[in-house]
Amino acid sequence: MKKIMVYRIMLTWLFLATSLVLAQTQSSSSTSDKTYKLLPGLDKQLINNSADPCVDFFEYACGNFPKLYPIPSDRSGFGVGAMISEYTQNILHTMLEKAAAGGESRTANEQKIGDYYASCMDIDAIDKKGLQPLQPDLDRIAALKSKDELPALLAHFQMINVNAFFGFGEQQDFKDATKQIAIADQGGLGLPERDYYFRKGDVAEKTRSEYVQHITNMLKLMGEPETQAASDAKKIMDLETALAKVSLDITSRRDPKNIYHMMPLSQLETITPEFAWNRFLTDIKITPITDLNVTVPDFFKGLNSLIASTDLDTIKAYLRWQLVNSTDSTALPKALDDEEFDFNRHKLAGQPEQRPRWKRCVEATDQALGEALGQVYVAQEFPPSSKQATVQMVHDIEAAMDEDLEHLDWMTAATKARAEQKLHAVADKIGYPDHWRDYSKLEVIRGDALGNADRAAEFENRRELNKIGKPVDRGEWGMSPPTINAYYSATMNDINFPAGILQPPFYDKNATDAENYGHGGAIVGHELTHGFDDQGRQFDANGNLDDWWTAEDTKRFEQKTDCEVKEYDNFTAVDDVKINGKLTLGENTADNGGLRLAYIAFLADAKRKNIDLNQKQDGYTPLQQFFLGFGQDWCGETRPQQLRLQVQTDPHSPRKFRVDGVVQNMPEFGKAFGCKPGQPMMPVNSCRVW
Ligand SMILES: [Zn+2]
Repeated sequence: MKKIMVYRIMLTWLFLATSLVLAQTQSSSSTSDKTYKLLPGLDKQLINNSADPCVDFFEYACGNFPKLYPIPSDRSGFGVGAMISEYTQNILHTMLEKAAAGGESRTANEQKIGDYYASCMDIDAIDKKGLQPLQPDLDRIAALKSKDELPALLAHFQMINVNAFFGFGEQQDFKDATKQIAIADQGGLGLPERDYYFRKGDVAEKTRSEYVQHITNMLKLMGEPETQAASDAKKIMDLETALAKVSLDITSRRDPKNIYHMMPLSQLETITPEFAWNRFLTDIKITPITDLNVTVPDFFKGLNSLIASTDLDTIKAYLRWQLVNSTDSTALPKALDDEEFDFNRHKLAGQPEQRPRWKRCVEATDQALGEALGQVYVAQEFPPSSKQATVQMVHDIEAAMDEDLEHLDWMTAATKARAEQKLHAVADKIGYPDHWRDYSKLEVIRGDALGNADRAAEFENRRELNKIGKPVDRGEWGMSPPTINAYYSATMNDINFPAGILQPPFYDKNATDAENYGHGGAIVGHELTHGFDDQGRQFDANGNLDDWWTAEDTKRFEQKTDCEVKEYDNFTAVDDVKINGKLTLGENTADNGGLRLAYIAFLADAKRKNIDLNQKQDGYTPLQQFFLGFGQDWCGETRPQQLRLQVQTDPHSPRKFRVDGVVQNMPEFGKAFGCKPGQPMMPVNSCRVW
């Protein structure tokens, strides 16, 4: 999978890397071609009646899920969200097979998505070509005569998403969200995150030695003799470790102030005399800039020393490695694709088997041509009625937050007024964009899988870089319509719900209102709350990083979030690996706030419709249905290796804690299920931020 550089604070419902198909954790051959249906708003079959909802609500709401739907061998985890993605992938598969079959009547977009998909599926052609499609780039690396030639090569690599040394792109200026500026960010690592290079313990050490072996294997498959490959791999590991040392960790990167350092271009040139930025910028062809955001200045100082101290042969080996490692492995010959799977999916995430090729090619097409595929998808699968129902729910949740803010007893009137102003300025984006992206200049050639991937990357990076200096397009989307995920953007101050997530059970027109508020309402509430979590609250109504809080209110807010940090720090995800309460704080705040907003909105809805809250329906009161709907969003199971990977890289807590960690903070839950104060799901002391 190509790594995408996204320089936007996108606070998601699920990990971004796993978005479309909750994605990389998925699916392959024989055992995994099972087709799934969408589950109803409340699925009684999933409930484990022998569990006590007051002791472990996740087990009660979801206990039967793993028995009914065991993790397929081509996944590192499986749950309700993954079932929706399997279902959606099947639809996209049929669409793409049809588009690939060709015919005169294809629209321009159908030609592109059909041929992209068909080229990805043509493993015989890919194998036959071998490394030949990479050869021009390998030749450019081999031809490097001095480090002075690095800027030009890195400019080209940047455009085709090769993750070498650092990242360069465009972002909205944190301090003035109407401006689009250039950004230079840390990068260049091959392991999932900085701390993988330094973490102590047997598992971490084993991962590092497996990683060095993986680099060796890849270099060998690219034609290097064994001893040279092994020696290069070690040097590459040393270089990446040095880069990691000067990189900022993911928890610190959550604070926008830590990744915002505007400086004149001349100052960047002063701290990195070994790297000629003027040559890089000329080659990357952006409009001339005078200043930019250098996210982590210390990283670039360190990078400068590394370029000075590393010999050219090691740099060349590192570039060969990053070139192949950054390439979408579906476009590589089978032996390299298998080796990539073995390390990144099997060893790191515990996935026993590779996913079927068609699923990986559906994903690759979505990633390259998301809005072309999405346009066809929406026309077929997202009727106006789905959009209307969602709009209503979003408005109800926003009204709930308004009410919640009004009754807040810990915030001063001045801060409250600014919070309300921000809330009222939130833009709602539902289903798909009003204006579709124009792909007419992107050439997709049948039979050229790697060329297509590179051209798609260049097309997207050019589109991003061309924004610098231009006005912001507030209608733009950061996710494709079939994506089963959602996000809040702090600089846009908008909430975004792609069509993919607006399907049962998250929104089910046959479910009760209670169930829909528990499922979909909590997701909407989650995204809205992101505007007010420890990260989002630092941005104002216009999307500017601007402290609108009084010192007193900040202090009270931090006391409240400290409670959540401690609560989640205590949860053990797997073996000796505990959740990182600080890394997951924003997501946990959004989960907790989201459910409360959905609860307030549902009570208002029940009042409007005269729903009797004591009247059981199908065995459950409306409030029990509400909480069960919420809990069942997360039904599923995750393999231990994937859990470890998740806790160490993902700001979202594992599924069980996204349920239990939240309901135990809502005494209303305990009341709905008749729990006694002091039971695990109804502790005497609980946390509440929003
Ligand atoms: Zn989130």
